[in-house]
Amino acid sequence: MASQPAVFSQAPRNLTRQISVGGVKIGGGAPVIVQSMLDMPTTHVSRCVKTIEQLAAQGCELIRVAVPNAKALPAFEQICEQSPLPVIADIHFDHRLAIEAAQRGAAKLRINPGNIGSLEQVDAIIDECGQRGIPMRIGVNAGSLDKAFAERADLTLSEKLVGSAVSFVEHFRSRGFEDVVLSAKAHDVSTTIETYRKLAQRLPEVPLHLGVTESGTLMQGTIKSAIAIGALLLDGIGDTLRVSLTAPLHEEVRVAWGILAATGLRRRRPELISCPTCGRCQVDLQRMANEVDQRLQTVEKPLAVAVMGCVVNGPGEAREADVGVACGKGKGAIFSKGEVLYTVGEDAIVEALFKEIEEL
Ligand code: SF4
Repeated sequence: MASQPAVFSQAPRNLTRQISVGGVKIGGGAPVIVQSMLDMPTTHVSRCVKTIEQLAAQGCELIRVAVPNAKALPAFEQICEQSPLPVIADIHFDHRLAIEAAQRGAAKLRINPGNIGSLEQVDAIIDECGQRGIPMRIGVNAGSLDKAFAERADLTLSEKLVGSAVSFVEHFRSRGFEDVVLSAKAHDVSTTIETYRKLAQRLPEVPLHLGVTESGTLMQGTIKSAIAIGALLLDGIGDTLRVSLTAPLHEEVRVAWGILAATGLRRRRPELISCPTCGRCQVDLQRMANEVDQRLQTVEKPLAVAVMGCVVNGPGEAREADVGVACGKGKGAIFSKGEVLYTVGEDAIVEALFKEIEEL
């Protein structure tokens, strides 16, 4: 199992019921958990396991795997056995796949009860997971809404998502199943925020899985996810998150951690503070900041590093950071833990910063 990255700070959060997914705690005041989903055929076991190992090293804490048909089940079982992270089975349409995935080692199931077929089939999944102590995510999605709500012209999309999600949670409860995480995703930022805020009001005890579905490629998806997930996290809403991007998987994890760091909830990597530069700057700050950013990608310490262009805001930010530089004409004053250490020429600034970072 990958070690849990350090908790940086924790804003006041909605107190949800805590569930355990293969030992990883979600809700009830636990750190907000980062998850992702494999983007390759489940039948490629060694490739899947290698990718999970890489994602775990980057800070992914739970991994979801599609189980699209019965052929994928034996491979899914092997992935569960070899994965360094608890594995979530993503199931649509066929309740028998869900039941078998639970029997073959899934740490959690993700289903959309609206597309499983009948309530009796959903109940068969609930009973199997209930007996085995396997939690489930009820994943309601704007693109695959339960028919009873999809056809209601009197409801907004967010009302449909909330109505559908609440009715499923109530049904699960009526069968004595409480180990539920809930998601209700849309591709639109304001619908997502509105929906989750309503869910947090209606079901304050249910842990929420945050995400913007089909958010797009790296740039657009990052912006939409950062706004929607970030706003909700700052409201104290959300217990786990997945950033969905049409991009390499490591980007999802990188963006997820960026959102957690920017909202002040968790940090596992350094934060770079750099000024935009202006007419006062007398060094090549853009080149310097890019080089520092690149080299920080391999640093695991949760430090703040400031790269600042001049004396206007430079000394203040550099002093506040763990390590920093405030530049002047062709040179920079190096700071560590609030103290000015020495001044070096422009070409030696990056090396000096990393020398100080290593010392901490
Ligand atoms: Fe301009 Fe200095 Fe502010 Fe950077 S720190 S933006 S160089 S005033």
